[in-house]
Amino acid sequence: MRITIVAGARPNFIKIAPIIKAIEKKQDNGALVSYRLVHTGQHYDKNLSDTFFEELNIPFPNANLEVKSGSQAEQTAAIMIAFEKELLNHPTDLVLVVGDVNSTMACAIVAKKLNIKVCHVEAGIRSGDMTMPEEINRIVTDSITDYFFTTSIWAGENLIKTGVDPLNIHFVGNVMIDTLYQNLDRITPPSFWEEYKLEKENYVILTLHRPSNVDQEHELVQLLKGIDALVQDKKIVFPIHPRTKAILGESNFDFKNIIMVEPQGYLNFMYLIKNSFAVISDSGGISEETTVLGIPCFTMRNSTERPETISIGTNTLVGTSIIQLRKSYTEFIQNGIRKAGIPDLWDGCASERIIDLLLTK
Ligand code: UDP
Repeated sequence: MRITIVAGARPNFIKIAPIIKAIEKKQDNGALVSYRLVHTGQHYDKNLSDTFFEELNIPFPNANLEVKSGSQAEQTAAIMIAFEKELLNHPTDLVLVVGDVNSTMACAIVAKKLNIKVCHVEAGIRSGDMTMPEEINRIVTDSITDYFFTTSIWAGENLIKTGVDPLNIHFVGNVMIDTLYQNLDRITPPSFWEEYKLEKENYVILTLHRPSNVDQEHELVQLLKGIDALVQDKKIVFPIHPRTKAILGESNFDFKNIIMVEPQGYLNFMYLIKNSFAVISDSGGISEETTVLGIPCFTMRNSTERPETISIGTNTLVGTSIIQLRKSYTEFIQNGIRKAGIPDLWDGCASERIIDLLLTK
């Protein structure tokens, strides 16, 4: 079987790393499977791309479509045009896409129209929020996917509601968590750890990059000021996403506690998360990682496509204003961490299950 693996953005790189390892393990055991890695170039900053390839030992891509930035339509169209040429020049049996970025949807459409089977890893999750570009990407991708690999029973139920044949839905666990387990003994403090006198549990991690939080400069600055005032006795380490940086510009803010740093590589970032007091974020992936690590996470969104991080894990949804965050964070300071667990099959073996299943197709 020939598999073309697509990756375009930071969370994709983290998800494909263990899948590639699982394929290579099968090859070592004599299985007739090969892969071709296509980087669409959706994320191209060193901090968001190359660093992840180096740190997670992901092979150099066989092709880079170099689409770079653009509006939603420009980027999706550029990926489709380039990926169609890629597939015509390099025939394959299966296109494997992960997550919910524009590359996921664009490449799934191109593959399906060329009558190539599509496999979606992290299928079926839904926020119900159609203002999120990711939700549209999820719905379109799942409407043309052949093999659905899910992170929860709930995601499978979402797919069944839309008429997907249950025989094509495979609850395998979470590839993001495979990467976490595979690298926990390699995580390492960032170079600024000493400079800022960071100590275990004496700081909070903050990440924000969703349009609903960062696209209006005034609201973003007010939110940051509110967070700076809320977390009074701790430093707040804020690895700032390029999208957020572009909105804030080069202005110098006089924050008492917030320390702005570059987006972190995976090994430094996971060290920071694992040793933090709490996390404030609008990221989906981070709510999964904090769940597994048992770190309290306050998600600055009105909905989540990962409800198990709330019902089982350590995640609390706090909306996009400082008001609810203040309430939830204050309750947490008063009551401490609530008891939480790890969702079923988030055990580090999802990628092997995926490849085992694909090789039976
Ligand atoms: N991440 C990282 N460094 C950072 C911020 C995030 O390595 O400075 C990793 C982290 O593992 C996270 C993943 O990137 O789960 C994806 O994060 P992002 O918020 O970009 O994407 P989302 O999960 O919201 O789609």
